[in-house]
Amino acid sequence: MLGLMMDTQLSIPAILEYAGKYHSKSEVVTRQDDGSLHRYTYKDCLGRTSQLAHGLKALGLKVGDRVATLAWNNFRHLELYFAVPGIGCVLHTINPRLFKEQIEFIINDAQDQFVFVDAMFVPLVEAVIARTPSVRAVVVMTDRAKMPATGLKNIICYEDLLHGQPQTKQWPALDERTASGLCYTSGTTGNPKGVLYSHRSTVLHAMTVNVPGVMGFMPTDVFLPVVPMFHVNAWCSPYSAAMAGVKMIMPGPRLDGNSLIELIHGEKITVTAGVPTVWLGLLNAAATQKVSLKPLERVLVGGAACPQAMFDAFAAHGATAIHAWGMTETSPLGSVSTLGSSEANLDPDEAMKLLLKQGRAPFGVEMRITDADGHSLDWDGVARGQLEVRGPWITSGYFNNPDRSSFSNDGWFQTGDVATIDGNGFMQIVDRIKDVIKSGGEWISSIDIENLAMSHPSVAEAAVIAREDAQWGERPRLIVCLKPDTKITGAELLAIIAPGVAKWWIPEDFIIVTELPHSATGKVLKNRLRETYGAQNHPMAQKLG
Ligand code: AMP
Repeated sequence: MLGLMMDTQLSIPAILEYAGKYHSKSEVVTRQDDGSLHRYTYKDCLGRTSQLAHGLKALGLKVGDRVATLAWNNFRHLELYFAVPGIGCVLHTINPRLFKEQIEFIINDAQDQFVFVDAMFVPLVEAVIARTPSVRAVVVMTDRAKMPATGLKNIICYEDLLHGQPQTKQWPALDERTASGLCYTSGTTGNPKGVLYSHRSTVLHAMTVNVPGVMGFMPTDVFLPVVPMFHVNAWCSPYSAAMAGVKMIMPGPRLDGNSLIELIHGEKITVTAGVPTVWLGLLNAAATQKVSLKPLERVLVGGAACPQAMFDAFAAHGATAIHAWGMTETSPLGSVSTLGSSEANLDPDEAMKLLLKQGRAPFGVEMRITDADGHSLDWDGVARGQLEVRGPWITSGYFNNPDRSSFSNDGWFQTGDVATIDGNGFMQIVDRIKDVIKSGGEWISSIDIENLAMSHPSVAEAAVIAREDAQWGERPRLIVCLKPDTKITGAELLAIIAPGVAKWWIPEDFIIVTELPHSATGKVLKNRLRETYGAQNHPMAQKLG
């Protein structure tokens, strides 16, 4: 017997219809390229998004067509977030930090018909347009007065597209499984792979981001999405914020610490989300300026492991770091580390050990860890294996790509991360499979050693890589990047690492570099470090101890 509830389809434009009607006066504020702030309300956003949807239809777009963006977090990008899927098209957000060849590859793979760009990315489009024949026109996200001079042939001004269009829209009734968004993985090897989201997966995921213990938006919150809208849909946070009617501050292209501090103070931001590298910049700027980050309350940290030093630094500002794990393939929320009532009485050290883990899966995500033969491993906090996940916002395959090598025979997605899970469901990532260090046949967790190294006040960033070793096959080598005007000795590093890991995990040597190489989404490029610093006897290596 079926239930008698209405079979209303989950839809992305319904989120903005809700925000525009029930939180009509709540603001969306954007830092523009020239530094000025643009302000409007969700009601305004709904009106303009309707105009944009009419404008897109006038371009001849049909259900299923792909529309790309190369843009920072701003109000026009937000309008595209709703209007493109709203008319049944697919929003393909492109990371402008990718190599030109990768951008060409993904535009061609997606067969994007239009590319919407911030004015500053027009030169990037000029560089790829000759090799991306599917693109019918480029829309510059600005007004007529600010249109840049360009040799591009088919160019449209965003505001012209909206001009004169009706401010209301009857959104088409779409099956909730209709494709809505496309993001490509920023793999360090091979071509990027497309992950195709649906209205259903996006709405369910955005609702989960909203639960207390994850982002848990309150209507009184002011939210700053620092994570770019081209990085897994800013973790779906613009959709979650609109669902809660939360005031949202779009930082535009300025993600440096000083600019973020100005927004935090000026707009009274309470919640934000981003990757550890950006938070390092923010915390360093606050330390240099000697200012507090008040009224910041919650900082979602994901994309790479959150070291204890970062938890402590935010706590000193009265803010709580919330550590989450996810991937492009998981929309991205896969787990979050928050303590429950059964952990309430732990002493602070034990509690911190749990918070440093990547945490529990939220309802909707199932997890398991498996050995090389695909057998499930125990949840004892010790056994380590490949992390596999499944659920309604986990990809079931790649766009335009028959490759099934990331899926188990029974359909789970194999993350490529190596993890442990403890008896209470707390998952801890210990490495990427391709970055693991195998010393004498045993795995060493690079993340544990990196976190310890980063707890030293002089260390800005640390990475542990596998170096060649004649006796053990591989040994860990620590690469550190220091904060400005600081020094460090091998003895100091040893003193901070030795108490936290097994003796045989301790690297014999370390190398100081001025900067660590990062991927387009802020992850340390360990393969590049291994290429440069992986030789057993590297001339820059200093003894640890
Ligand atoms: P991407 O799809 O580019 O967002 O990258 C996903 C990968 O980032 C994951 O498979 C992890 O290896 C890594 N990652 C994401 N969040 C975390 C985290 N909290 N701790 C450690 N690694 C993370």
